[in-house]
Amino acid sequence: MMGKFPRSKQIGASGKSVSATTYIAVGISGAVQHLQGIKACRHVIAINCDPGAPIIKRADLTVVGDAEEVMQALIARVGQARAQSETPEGQV
Ligand SMILES: Cc1cc2nc3c(=O)[nH]c(=O)nc-3n(C[C@H](O)[C@H](O)[C@H](O)COP(=O)(O)OP(=O)(O)OC[C@H]3O[C@@H](n4cnc5c(N)ncnc54)[C@H](O)[C@@H]3O)c2cc1C
Repeated sequence: MMGKFPRSKQIGASGKSVSATTYIAVGISGAVQHLQGIKACRHVIAINCDPGAPIIKRADLTVVGDAEEVMQALIARVGQARAQSETPEGQV
């Protein structure tokens, strides 16, 4: 974490525990201290460029790739899906 996150923003042994239905770990290695904070999460999706990262053992779904590229693609797909759902029937 390179000292960028204060304790109040950390998830894990020295930060908060979260209980999300789906937790998306973007560029998170999956250190034991971090895993402690996501024990209660039902589903974990990992986005990581290292197929050997420990988070992958905890994840239900893993996308191996560059986080920025994957997130941009995901945001674009969500935008498309939203635009389609907002288009009135019969219009393109
Ligand atoms: C007493 C103690 C308490 C601690 N408490 C906590 C705590 O509460 N919470 C916590 O999180 N940590 C805690 N830590 C630190 C912990 O041991 C790890 O050092 C820390 O979790 C690593 O953070 P990270 O996974 O974000 O970073 P890194 O270990 O640097 O891992 C980065 C990950 O991102 C991947 N990655 C890098 N670039 C990209 C990219 N472009 N696209 C996709 N993937 C990429 C890498 O493959 C790697 O898996 C504690 C440590 C100690 C000693």
